[in-house]
Amino acid sequence: MKHKIVIKGIAAVLCAACCSFGVAAQPIQEDVILYPEHEQIRQEIQQLEQLEQWGVQQQEATRLHLQLSEKQWGSLVQNTAPPVWLSFLQLPYGKSELLERYIQQWEQTPEWTAEEIVTWVNANLDLPFYEQTVMAENPNSLTVLVNKYSALGAEFEPELVKMDAAYTTVPNAKMQPVAYEAFVKMAEAASQDGFRLYSVSAYRSYQTQKRLYQTYVATDGLELAESYSARPGYSEHQTGLSVDINTADFYSNFQNTDTYRWLRENSWKYGFILRYPEGKERITGYQFEPWHYRYVGVEIAQTCEEQGLTYEEYLARQVPPQTDFLQNTSTPISGQLLWLDHQWYAPCVMLARSVGIAAGVRSDGGVLLFSENQRVELHPYLLPVVDGVPYPRKHTELWYQGELYVPVTDFLKQFEIPYQQVDNIIYIQEHQSTNEILTSLYHYLKNASIEELMALFPTQIPISSESWIAPVFDPVKWLSAKLYD
Ligand SMILES: [Zn+2]
Repeated sequence: MKHKIVIKGIAAVLCAACCSFGVAAQPIQEDVILYPEHEQIRQEIQQLEQLEQWGVQQQEATRLHLQLSEKQWGSLVQNTAPPVWLSFLQLPYGKSELLERYIQQWEQTPEWTAEEIVTWVNANLDLPFYEQTVMAENPNSLTVLVNKYSALGAEFEPELVKMDAAYTTVPNAKMQPVAYEAFVKMAEAASQDGFRLYSVSAYRSYQTQKRLYQTYVATDGLELAESYSARPGYSEHQTGLSVDINTADFYSNFQNTDTYRWLRENSWKYGFILRYPEGKERITGYQFEPWHYRYVGVEIAQTCEEQGLTYEEYLARQVPPQTDFLQNTSTPISGQLLWLDHQWYAPCVMLARSVGIAAGVRSDGGVLLFSENQRVELHPYLLPVVDGVPYPRKHTELWYQGELYVPVTDFLKQFEIPYQQVDNIIYIQEHQSTNEILTSLYHYLKNASIEELMALFPTQIPISSESWIAPVFDPVKWLSAKLYD
C-alpha cells in the first residue's frame, strides 16, 4: 500500500493553488486524500506553465522533458529567465542530444544567431575535417551526403551508365542513370540557348581518386591539395551523381563565362546544385569550384537555390522524422500528452474515445465515463468514483489548460483495457468484447433523449446533451493506439 497523506481543512487552499489556470472553481470535498505524487505533479505543471510563458509549446515541453538529462531539465526549469540554449532546441531541427555542442559553439561565436549555431553543429562543422567520420548511411541514395565527415569507402560502386560522346570529352565516362538523364536534358536546354555543356569528369572510382589525390598531394603539399581534392572514399565523384562541367581548372576563370552564368540560373531546374560555392569554403571544405555540380533532384536543388544554402546547410536544417508523441497506425487519437512524474497523462475525453469508452463532460469539468460494467466519475485531484464509491489509486487526475487529464496506465487498468508498456511507449491492444458492447452503446446513446441519459448517469449536476460524446466507432480503424515518445 502506498503512503497516503490525509489533509483536512486546507484542501481548498491547495486545490485553489494547483487549479489556478483559468478553470472555474472546482467542487471541493471536505476531506481530500492527497498523495505524495500530487505535490510533485503540481510542481511539474508549474514548470510546464513557465516554459509556456517562454514560448515552449506543451508538446515541445514534453519532448524536452523526455530527452533532456535530469540536470539539463533542472537547469531549464529552475531558471527565472529562459536560458539562451532554449532557443537552440526550439528550432524544429534543434537536437537535444547536441545541446552541449550548441552551447560550446555559442561560447565561441556568441554573435551568431541560433539558426547559424544549430546549422553549424548539426553539420558537424564544430569538429575538424576527417576526424570523426562516418560511413554514409544510404550510399545508393540520390541524396547521399559525401564530404569530409561522411564517406563512401573503398568498396562502394553505384549503378552506372556510359555517357554519350556528345556530352563528355573523356572516353568511357559514366554517371548514375538518373543523374545522367538530367544532365542530358540540361545540356540540351543549354544548347537551345547557345551554350555547350559537357563533362570533363563524372564518376570516379575509389582507385582513380586515390591516384589523383596522391598526385595532388605530391605536387601541392597536403594542405593545398586537400582544399580542392578529396581523400579516396570521400569524393563526391564516387557517387556517380557529380559532374565537372566544361573545365576543372582554377586558371580557366570559368566563373566569368556566360556558360557559368547560364548554369547558375538554370542548373537547379534540372536538379543540379553548384556544390562548392564561393564564400562557403569553411562549410563545404573545398575551394570555390564553379564547374562542380551535383545532382540532388529538382526539389532540393530549388530549395538550396532559393535559400542560398550549401548541401551541408540544407541537410543540417532538415527536421528529423516526426517524433510524435502520439503515433498510431489506426486510431484517431490526436491529443496532447504530458509526461509528468514519470507517467503519461492524456486528456481524458480524447483517451476515452480512442479506446471506445463513452465520455460525458460535466459542467464542473469532471468527466463521466461509462463502460460495459462500470460507471466512473473523474475529477481533477480527487480519487475516481467508481459506481458511487471512491477508488484508491496512486495517481489522481489533474487539470491542465481547461481539460481533465488522466494518468494513462491507471486509466487503462481501471477499464481493464489490455496494454503493454515498454520504456516510455504504451501499446494499447484491441479489446473485442468492449468493441461489441460499444457498438450497441453507440447506437443507444445516439438516439437517447436527455432524460434517458440523465437516468443512465444520475447526477445532481446538470449536463447538456451536446457535451456527450459517443465512442468513435470504426471496426477497422478503432483502437490499436500506440502512445510513444
Ligand atoms: Zn568535381
